[in-house]
Amino acid sequence: MFEKILIANRGEIALRIQRACRELGIRTVVVHSEADTEAKYVKLADESVCIGPPPAQQSYLNIPAIISAAEVTDAEAIHPGYGFLSENADFAERVESSGFVFIGPRPENIRLMGDKVSARAAMGKAGVPIVPGSEGVLPDDPKEITRIARRIGYPVLIKAAGGGGGRGMRVVHTEAALQNAVIMTRSEAQAAFANPNVYMEKYLENPRHIEFQVLADAHKNVIHLGERDCSLQRRHQKVMEEAPAPDLPVRLRERMGERCVDACKRINFRGAGTFEFLYENGEFYFIEMNTRIQVEHPVTEMITGVDLVQEQIRVAAGEKLRMRQRDVTIRGHAIECRINAEDPYKFTPSPGKITSYHAPGGPGIRVDSHVYAGYTVPPYYDSMIGKVIAYGSSRDQAIRRMRVALSEMGLEGITTNIPLHLELLHDVNVLRGGTSIHYLEQKLALEQKQKKPK
Ligand code: ADP
Repeated sequence: MFEKILIANRGEIALRIQRACRELGIRTVVVHSEADTEAKYVKLADESVCIGPPPAQQSYLNIPAIISAAEVTDAEAIHPGYGFLSENADFAERVESSGFVFIGPRPENIRLMGDKVSARAAMGKAGVPIVPGSEGVLPDDPKEITRIARRIGYPVLIKAAGGGGGRGMRVVHTEAALQNAVIMTRSEAQAAFANPNVYMEKYLENPRHIEFQVLADAHKNVIHLGERDCSLQRRHQKVMEEAPAPDLPVRLRERMGERCVDACKRINFRGAGTFEFLYENGEFYFIEMNTRIQVEHPVTEMITGVDLVQEQIRVAAGEKLRMRQRDVTIRGHAIECRINAEDPYKFTPSPGKITSYHAPGGPGIRVDSHVYAGYTVPPYYDSMIGKVIAYGSSRDQAIRRMRVALSEMGLEGITTNIPLHLELLHDVNVLRGGTSIHYLEQKLALEQKQKKPK
């Protein structure tokens, strides 16, 4: 096992990884920008290294600075967390060529899945059902593009091959709007992801987002840990997640889980990964694979009892998975609410100093957050300041516990989206379960309309 790991991330996930390391008896190095120097989780680490000024480009995305920090502190491995450099194959390669272990998949797997067009092709070949769409990257010839769209059938979605974070997508309802949408998405993709390639998918009108968690070691052992339902989204970004997915037939879960495991074996995958699907009318359609730990990983941990971050570290150290598929048991239900420093209805970020803080607790409540009274939420990064996870023996109990937890939670000085979560936890459709990926936006639009004076 490693003696010292460098954590190349910030905020709640940096603390989450630190906790996993400490439990395993591994010493930690946290790198941080000048904006995060005073954060308690930075001080809690065995060592910390300032790697640059606040903008992420100059700090959390600064590869040479991170590698030097690992060199000067004698770390053996680097955990990238999520976001930032976690799905950057060049970074993974640099880490390994500099003599450190990258806690994540092999660079070639990251590269394959980082390009959504090659990911679609690989998954199609591995027998995973994909969304009907173009064979590969869209060609330049407008006539050919029109033909592809007609074959798929409107509405279609133009997506950036290098897209991520819910950006780089455009819905097209009619042929008249097609060519312009392709041009716009291409130029946005070039600007945002330095890759102008776009492809086309059927736009599914009423799907749920269901994803499967997999874990693989370097010895060809692969297991899945069931699924999560992440359909409550705004602007293609997840707001609340749960596991297991409500009303998913057990047999179907097993079959899809096995497909994901098979696909991992085919591409020789190692580490923790997530297969994301859209689920409509009883059918699954692959959209992408994330080759890293995800924000919503705790809901799976709660229902399986597996510490995913520790397993990532173990398999990176070359250990064999300690469980087989038949050892994985799913018990109870878990829900996660992402707590963001933002206006709950206008969604404008609300950085600043947290003047008072009271964390919820009680049976089944887990809080993954790096904040405290006196902490200042910097304006430079994502607005998520933590996650509250509620576990119950049933979905109903998990929901009740979450309501109590969020109503107990006290955060002053900044605005958070807790009121929106509380509203969702009383919404009849959310309570029934199984809402589509469009539900939250439709609900918000309706409320907006009702608020407007006639
Ligand atoms: P990103 O990498 O940016 O997260 P994804 O491909 O995972 O992009 O898609 C994010 C979200 O966008 C999905 O969860 C879903 O809500 C929506 N989406 C993606 N593809 C489709 C599609 N073909 N039809 C309808 N919605 C889609």
